[in-house]
Amino acid sequence: MLALNDVTAVLFDMDGVLYRGSMPLPGVNELLALLESRGIAYACCTNNATMTPAQYEAKLARMGIHMPAERVVTSSVATRRWLETQAPRGTGVYAIGMDGLRTALFDDGYFVEDEEQPAFVVVGMDFEVTYHRLRKACLLIRAGARFIGTNPDTTFPAEDGIVPGCGALLALLRAGAEVEPFVIGKPGPTMFHAAIQILGADPSRTLTIGDRLDTDIAGARAAGLASVLVLTGVTTLEALERGTVQPDMVFASLPELCAAWA
Ligand SMILES: [Mg+2]
Repeated sequence: MLALNDVTAVLFDMDGVLYRGSMPLPGVNELLALLESRGIAYACCTNNATMTPAQYEAKLARMGIHMPAERVVTSSVATRRWLETQAPRGTGVYAIGMDGLRTALFDDGYFVEDEEQPAFVVVGMDFEVTYHRLRKACLLIRAGARFIGTNPDTTFPAEDGIVPGCGALLALLRAGAEVEPFVIGKPGPTMFHAAIQILGADPSRTLTIGDRLDTDIAGARAAGLASVLVLTGVTTLEALERGTVQPDMVFASLPELCAAWA
């Protein structure tokens, strides 16, 4: 098992680890300072495909957490990096998604928007999606475009309750096009692979820190990475005891992890 003292890179989940809602969690800046002082590389990995890394940098800065955009690996960023390994510059993509996905795919011109004969249909969460665009995506997938999803989260918490997420859009298209998507985000390993590549990290000495067994810890397992579960997010001690996926280490909170590391 990877000992904390042998860790050379850390991949954080965000919500439930660094903050909850819009409140920073205790110990975040202490842990980041500890990593900095030891030369340990770190990045954040989030399934959320709607926001750009720059928007995350600003959101975290408002909470007093310094996290440069280059260290934010969203499922949109990971999707872009993976697609680049599959297709040359100039490849056409039909995308359903928001700023986070559109910026990652199209801003530097590597991929071009194509509504006629795209090589890929890429789907992320889109709060303004229309039947027209979903219909188009179905037709293009049926015509042979490869069907890619940024992340599998079927739901997410909103102010007024639990609402449909990217995985729900993927389910609609899966039913309508009768094709399974290839999905990038957690619990698959692809986003972790992208983050490791971005940091130039050694996977055998990379630690993931998350608050969910079914995404963060399962994803770490799938990517062959060591994992820490913190109990500041969705997973309770009771849920951990019942869980079929288990982390390598468990800490109640980041201050406890800091204490163990120091
Ligand atoms: Mg989380």
